[in-house]
Amino acid sequence: MARIIIVGAGVVGLSTARAARAKGHDVVLIERGPIPNPLASSWDSHRMIRHHYGDAAGYTVMVHDAFDAWDRLWADLGATHFVDTGAIAIAEKDGDYAHRTLATFRSTGLQHDVLDAAALSVLCPQYRLTDESFGVVGGRAGPLFADRIVAGLADLVARMGVELMPDTTVATVDPAAASVTLADGRTIAGDALVVAAGAWGGRLVPAFAGHPVMRQALCYVTPPPAYAKAWNEGPALVAYGDNGGYTLPGVCGTDLKFGYGAHRRPADPDGGVASPEGEAQAILAGFGRFVKDIGAYVPLRVQVGYYMMDTSRRFRIETEGRMIAVGNCDGQMFKFGPLMGERVIATIEGAVSRPDLKSWAAGE
Ligand SMILES: Cc1cc2nc3c(=O)[nH]c(=O)nc-3n(C[C@H](O)[C@H](O)[C@H](O)COP(=O)(O)OP(=O)(O)OC[C@H]3O[C@@H](n4cnc5c(N)ncnc54)[C@H](O)[C@@H]3O)c2cc1C
Repeated sequence: MARIIIVGAGVVGLSTARAARAKGHDVVLIERGPIPNPLASSWDSHRMIRHHYGDAAGYTVMVHDAFDAWDRLWADLGATHFVDTGAIAIAEKDGDYAHRTLATFRSTGLQHDVLDAAALSVLCPQYRLTDESFGVVGGRAGPLFADRIVAGLADLVARMGVELMPDTTVATVDPAAASVTLADGRTIAGDALVVAAGAWGGRLVPAFAGHPVMRQALCYVTPPPAYAKAWNEGPALVAYGDNGGYTLPGVCGTDLKFGYGAHRRPADPDGGVASPEGEAQAILAGFGRFVKDIGAYVPLRVQVGYYMMDTSRRFRIETEGRMIAVGNCDGQMFKFGPLMGERVIATIEGAVSRPDLKSWAAGE
C-alpha cells in the first residue's frame, strides 16, 4: 500500500482520495481553504452531465463510463445527487453543434432521438424556432448537484480515514520525492503525489504555468410563469446552434440557470466570486436571440468560478517523477470527477500506463 499526497479538494481531489482509500492506500488531502471550498470550481448548485459533445466522439464515449463511476459513488454515499432531465441540442444551421452531435451519436451507436420542429415547439415553447429547427436528445443527462456531491464526498472520505488538511496551502511540489512544502515551511512526503489544484495548478506545476485561466459566471433566474413548466420539466439545453448558451432546469430545490461560453474571460483565479453590477443582464442578453421574452426573466444571483483551459479544449495530464497532475479541466471536468479519480489511482497502481491515462484524458 502507498501513501498518497493529494493537493486540492475539489471534485477531482476528493474523488481521487476516495478511490485511493477504497484500494487501501493511506491518503493525505491538502486544501488551502475549507473542505469543501466554496471558492473552488466544483462548488455550485449544479453542473451538467450529457453525452452531447459535438464531434468529440472520445468524450461522448467517456460519458458512458462517467455515469458508471457516478453510480458507484451514489452507492457509497447512499444518495443520488443527479436527476435525469435529459438534455437537448437545438440545430439552427448546417454543421452546427447539434448536427455534429447527431453525427457522433450515429457513429458511436448512442441511442438517440431527433425531434422535428413540431415536436420541439411542444417540448420547448420558450425558444424561438423555425420550420427547419430540430432537436437532438440521447442518453442520460441533466444536473449533478455539485455542492451536495462535494459535501458528501468530503464527509465520506473523512469516514474512510483520509487525513484531511483544510486551510493549508501548498507552496511548492517536488515530483521526484512525491513531497510538498507547505506555506508554513513544513514538508509532507509520500510515495505518490497527485496535484488537483484546478485553476491554481499553474502555480505548482510548471507545465501548466502558461495555460490560460478563465473566469466564468452563470446567472440563476426565475422564468416568466408562462414558461416555468417548460423550463423546469424540460431538458437541459446544451447548445442552440453554435451560440454556446446552455441552461440547467431548476429541479430538486435548485433554480433555473443560464450560462454561455462567450461570457468567460481570462482572469486571475484569486479574483474572487463577486459579480459586478450589470453582469446578470449581460449574461441574459446572450440568450435574447433565441429565448422568447428574455426581458421577463428575473435574475436571482450570479455564480462565479475559474478554470484552466486552452484552445484544444482537452483535459491535460502531466506526469513527472512520482507526480500526476490533472489540468485543463475547463468548464467540463465535473462530470468526469469520480471517473478521473479512479483512473488516476489505477495509474499509480500500474493498472493503466501513464501514456494511456494522458491520451484517454485528451479524449483520444
Ligand atoms: C461556471 C462554471 C460552470 C461549469 N459548468 C460545468 C458543467 O456544466 N459540467 C461540467 O462537467 N463541468 C463544469 N464546469 C467545470 C468543473 O466545475 C471543473 O472542471 C471541476 O469542478 C474542476 O474540479 P477540480 O477538482 O479540478 O478543481 P476545483 O474544484 O477548482 O478544486 C481545486 C482545489 O484546489 C485547491 N488548491 C489550489 N491550489 C492549492 C494549493 N496551492 N494548496 C492547497 N490547495 C490548493 C483549491 O482551493 C480548490 O479547492 C464548470 C466550471 C465553472 C467555473
